[in-house]
Amino acid sequence: MKQLVTVTPMELRFENVDMPEVSGGSEVLVKIKAAGICGSDVHIYHGTSPVATYPRVMGHEMVGVVDKVGADVTKVRPGDRVIVDQIISCGACYPCSIGRPNVCLGLKVRGVHIDGGYREYITADEDSLYILPEHLSFSDAVMIEPMSIAFQAVSRAKVVASDTVLVLGAGALGKSLIKALLLTDAELIVADVAEQRLEEARALGVRHCVNTSETGLAQALGGKLPTVSIDAAGFPESLALLADITCNAGRVVTMSFLKDLSEIAQFKITSKELDIIGSRLQNGKFKEVLDGINGGLIDVTGQVSHEIPFERAKEAFEMIDRKDPSVKKVVLVY
Ligand code: MN
Repeated sequence: MKQLVTVTPMELRFENVDMPEVSGGSEVLVKIKAAGICGSDVHIYHGTSPVATYPRVMGHEMVGVVDKVGADVTKVRPGDRVIVDQIISCGACYPCSIGRPNVCLGLKVRGVHIDGGYREYITADEDSLYILPEHLSFSDAVMIEPMSIAFQAVSRAKVVASDTVLVLGAGALGKSLIKALLLTDAELIVADVAEQRLEEARALGVRHCVNTSETGLAQALGGKLPTVSIDAAGFPESLALLADITCNAGRVVTMSFLKDLSEIAQFKITSKELDIIGSRLQNGKFKEVLDGINGGLIDVTGQVSHEIPFERAKEAFEMIDRKDPSVKKVVLVY
């Protein structure tokens, strides 16, 4: 089978390798049909991921069809359309013991720490597979993973109806957050420097959008105090900025893997009793997102801007690097 290897940063190479074998009883062979290119894949490609190792087959947003199943598999059958959970955890460490395997001490993320979905076949335990909604195309189904990341942040922030939630950044992550937050009864404010992205946020149903390109965030909010601020922009100053404008007793959620230092006065956090909350990957959220799609509450369609054949994956990464604003979500199709 064919796989795309990131040999070292900026060096992608197609290789022909043996088909993976279904070895264990609960193991499943999945034929990949679509895999998304996420911002974090672009970081691995560029060599700016703080967690990835090389050489690596990237791809953590992957959907496909069950091809073969091990003797003990009961949850899926050949022909089932599935999404593969990106997380493999040890089950024994402290985070795992308290039900937070997404931050397992021995965490292995497919496409990051171990090989992922930019190949024709992958094996996974049946517990890592979720059946796709029938009406959803493989390409759109890739968006279940980014949506699960958004669900994680909303759950980490413990958003309730009385909250005013600010999403900083209306890019790809921001849009998934918007969709997740519109399911809650909280008041939603979206801030961005680009009018185009705010226009897209309005089209999703956001009524309160603020453009911070000229005035800065505090002024753009006009005295409104978010009780929850979610950083979907992730630049060195964003944490202090959000701590500044978030209401006393509020929560600030970080989602970026930025390694640059963020300068913030502890006084700000202490005096306001802010909770600074990290949100990483997702913990059991695939099921929630799928329930939402099946129940007609969530629509993950309309976000994929480009479908590129897997064999042309190198072009896809080059296209993303050109930063054309028409390039939003790129999905490799197999
Ligand atoms: Mn992703």
